[in-house]
Parts: sequence; C-alpha cells; structure tokens
Amino acid sequence: MQGTAAILREPNQPFSIETVQFDPPRAGEVLIRIRAVGICHTDMVFASGAMGSPFPLILGHEGAGVVEAVGEGVTKVRPGQKVLLTFNSCGQCSQCHSGDPAYCQDFVALNFACVRSDGSSCVHQDAGQVSARFFGQSSFASHAIADERNVIALPENADLASFAPLGCGIQTGVGAVLRSLKAQAGSNLVVLGGGAVGLSAVLGGKIAGCSKIIMIEPQEARRQLALELGADHAIDPATGDTAEQVRAILPQGANNVVDTSGNVGAISAALGMLAPHGALGLVGVPGSLDAALPLPIVPAITYGYTIKGIIEGDSDPDTFLPELIALHAAGKLPIERFSTIYPFDQINQAIADSHSGKCVKAILELPA
Ligand SMILES: [Zn+2]
Ligand SMILES: [Zn+2]
Repeated sequence: MQGTAAILREPNQPFSIETVQFDPPRAGEVLIRIRAVGICHTDMVFASGAMGSPFPLILGHEGAGVVEAVGEGVTKVRPGQKVLLTFNSCGQCSQCHSGDPAYCQDFVALNFACVRSDGSSCVHQDAGQVSARFFGQSSFASHAIADERNVIALPENADLASFAPLGCGIQTGVGAVLRSLKAQAGSNLVVLGGGAVGLSAVLGGKIAGCSKIIMIEPQEARRQLALELGADHAIDPATGDTAEQVRAILPQGANNVVDTSGNVGAISAALGMLAPHGALGLVGVPGSLDAALPLPIVPAITYGYTIKGIIEGDSDPDTFLPELIALHAAGKLPIERFSTIYPFDQINQAIADSHSGKCVKAILELPA
C-alpha cells in the first residue's frame, strides 16, 4: 500500500518526505494510519547515527492514529479504533511476564534493529528496503506497522494530537517518579532538565505528593514553565555549583533526583545532592555509547545511594497509559501547556525549534 514517510538518508541530514510502500500487516501486526506523532530526544540521538541504526531510516516513536487493518490473530484492537503507539516488547520473557516490559530481554532487537525478526522491513521503495519499526512503529509516516503488544486502544473522543507523546516522553517522566523511584508523599524531588520528560517528572512529583520539587535547567523560559507546573524552585546551573544550591534549599539533601539531561557533568554534580538513602534515576540518553560517570564509592556505600537506569519510566503500557489518560482527564497532566503542533511537512522546522528551545514538545499532525 502506498503512503508517505519522512526519511533520513544519512546521519544528521534533513528529513525528506517521500512516497513509500507499506506491507500489509502480518499475523500479530496492526496497520495504523498515523494522525499525530511527537518528536522525542531519542529520535535525535538515533538521527545522529551514534547508535548504529541502519539508514535510510524512518524514525518516530510517539505515534497516535486510527487502526486501518489488523493481521491474523489480532484481538486487542479493530479497524477504525483510535490507538496510541508505545515501545515494543516480546511478551514471552521473564521481564515481560513480571510486568516489566521496558526491560524486555529482546528490547534492543524489537525497538532498535529497525527490521522484523526475520530481517525483513515492512516499508519499501523502488530503490530497496527502508529501515522501519523503530520502537516497533516508525511513526514519522502516514502509516506504521506495529505489533499488537505496542498498540493501546484509546477512548473514542481522545484527542490524538494531545495524547501522542504519552507513548514515550510523558510516561517516561511521570513513570520515573511514580514507578521507577516510587517517590513517597512528603519526600523531595530534584529534576535535571526541563524538556518534556523533565516537566513530566515535575508533574509526577506533584501527583506523588512530593513536599518540595526543584528544577535545574539552563533556559529561563523552561525554568518558568517548571514553576508554573508545580516546581517550588528553579535553578539556573550557570549561577554556580548546583549541589550547593540544592543543599541550601534541602539541607538533608535530595531523596529523589531524576536526570533527563544525559549531561555527564550535570549528573556527576547530582551525586553530591543526594540525601542518605537518596536515589538518582538516569533517564536522559547521552550522545555517546561510551559516556561514563565517575562514582565516589565510599559516600555511595556510606549513605546507601541507589543509582537506577530507567527505560520508559518502568511503564507497563497496558495499565499505565490508561492511568495517565485518567490523570489527564482529571487535570493533573496538562501536557498541552508544553506542546506545540506543527504540520507533518514542517518536520525539519519542528526539530530545529526543539533544538533551539523555541518549543518543548513538538507534535507533528498528519491529515486524516
Ligand atoms: Zn520480553
Ligand atoms: Zn522517546
């Protein structure tokens, strides 16, 4: 079937919108007409080529749309239903069985290999195969072919453009606080980086009932937004040692720190903010596979620190995404406050505006 996709031919080049052919869905697969897709920092990390993904490539992993067709055996959704796409998982391994699909044993193959398990692609051009199925979807396109597992049905009245980023950025930020670090009511929270994931972590802190929430972010507009969304303090890292500034507010230190910056210097400084039994959650993906942290071991032992890597906020999408939709309906996840909608053909402008800080969460909208 013919459609269009924003194709990246080489690392760090502009995307070009081209005609492509989509396969029909195979057994267990779902063909979705994409209506909206968020742009996430991880798209840009893969666009740089640093993660070794095969080009030409279709990125995009915050898709939302309408089911067009289902493959044999699919019972979870039906044609015409609105759906949200999220990360993929196998459903067979011990992690998936224990409700931890974000740590699926096949996570890398299912989300980053950008081919089906038999090595074939589901998207083609005359010139050959195009790498797709990024995060089990590749939704910078008119259509995506996902697995039944990474498709979540939405209510009939759902606003697809608003909800698209729930499938990655929002569930990651909120989930990092509620599920990964399990922040307790009355504990405090420090968030590094005021992008969509960091602002979602602030909202997660409010939902958890954190007593004090501190945002550390270099851009003034994003600090302001964090304060409006519920942070009690916002620190500009250019004004001095961030650990000292946090300890001036929290003399005992921080119970929970969530890094969304992926910046090694900022994360190293965060180690100096932790309270006894404090936890540091690593969410932001650095620009290099070799990025490493110098960890002072004696204080880590003495004060019982936890350092936790976090994928997708430890989400189990089948249960957590409906919870987020209910929180949105209750006014506790005002994601529209930091979203900007662009037409799909403005994808390169949307990415430029995300880099410059002109927008926080860019969402591309596609025609019906
Ligand atoms: Zn699995
Ligand atoms: Zn993402």
